[in-house]
Amino acid sequence: MGSIEKENKEMRRSLHLLTSKVERNEAILRSFFEMEIRLLSCSSLDELLDLILIEFRAYFRLTAVNLILLDPESAARTLLDDYTPPEPGHSLRFVNNQRLLKSLFPTPKLRIGELSAPLKSIAFPSTPSVLSSALLPLVRHNCLIGSLHLGSNDPTRYSEHFDYDYIGHLASVISVCIENCINQQNLKRLSIIDMLTKVNNRRAFDQEIIKELSRASRHKTALSCLFIDLDFFKLVNDNFGHQIGDKVLQAVGTLLKKNLRKTDFIARYGGEEFAILLPNCDSEKAMEIGNQLRQKILHMVIHDNECKPFRISASIGVTSCTAESFAFDDLDAQAHTLLKAADEAVYQAKDKGRNRIEYRSLPDMKPELFHSLSTSLNDR
Ligand code: GH3
Ligand code: MG
Ligand code: MG
Repeated sequence: MGSIEKENKEMRRSLHLLTSKVERNEAILRSFFEMEIRLLSCSSLDELLDLILIEFRAYFRLTAVNLILLDPESAARTLLDDYTPPEPGHSLRFVNNQRLLKSLFPTPKLRIGELSAPLKSIAFPSTPSVLSSALLPLVRHNCLIGSLHLGSNDPTRYSEHFDYDYIGHLASVISVCIENCINQQNLKRLSIIDMLTKVNNRRAFDQEIIKELSRASRHKTALSCLFIDLDFFKLVNDNFGHQIGDKVLQAVGTLLKKNLRKTDFIARYGGEEFAILLPNCDSEKAMEIGNQLRQKILHMVIHDNECKPFRISASIGVTSCTAESFAFDDLDAQAHTLLKAADEAVYQAKDKGRNRIEYRSLPDMKPELFHSLSTSLNDR
């Protein structure tokens, strides 16, 4: 073979190598762009975290994906109340300050390659098989807000000798997405939450009752409504001060949340009034639940400013609608009827001496049905 021919062959070989390298890089970039679009289209923090913690692993062929988020005021944790992070555990951690993050990133720069044992135990606490990794600092407004750890059991996967600009870019996109999701959801939460008791506010209740009525009418299921009015609450304020009054309201909010299902809807409807929607719950069950709440409120011990214990009681009004009681298609009118009946039941409980539960049927239902039920429950 002549030397020119040999040189030619050599050049063709390097050209081929170069082309396949370019193609590979293009494919990597394309996959990163695709992922970027998916990250940007996430509409909630749950969805975003599932994408990062579950889908990244398969999509980028990784052994482990771990995320640490700075969450000093528990804003993210509050939003993720129902979220179960994927297995293996510890793939999602929250920190209240930057100490841990600063130990991973003395300077907020991408960390590539093999990790020392102490750093590995921080970055991948439950995956010792990780042999090379990329630790991405998540930064917003010059502040380290988290750290994303991509780990591989291939020791050559992440090497200091290569450039990983696209991973740096991905980190910026993820930081923006996390911040946006938290801010947007938090804003929405603030607009529907009563800040004192941390249950829903009246506005949220008024929207929810329409949704639940519509659902109950579609599925032909029962829907019950409870009104809880604390007894002689003015006296609590007068005797112990407004601050202790606030503490009582908070304690009642917590008690309700603790004793009801996730699917029940609890709201502070007014000053010392709470309203509850119990989907898929008929009148008898609603009376039983309401009565248990009445007893729990009665047995709750609160302490005044001098640490002296005192108790409160509540009057509860209950009403229910069943598939048969959907008299009209007008959901607003139906909601009004339901609330009016629950309110009237509370008045009846007050009239009969407070610390009672009373049922008021909807206008198209037979009241005698529930008379005996109320009587037997209040005697207990
Ligand atoms: P009843 O048994 O008839 O319901 O008597 P009550 O004293 O509970 O009812 P009333 O409507 O006379 O008084 C309600 C009181 O609730 C008056 C008001 O000062 C108090 N209140 C309303 N909102 C708040 C609040 O956010 N914090 C505190 N501490 N008190 C509140
Ligand atoms: Mg009241
Ligand atoms: Mg009251």
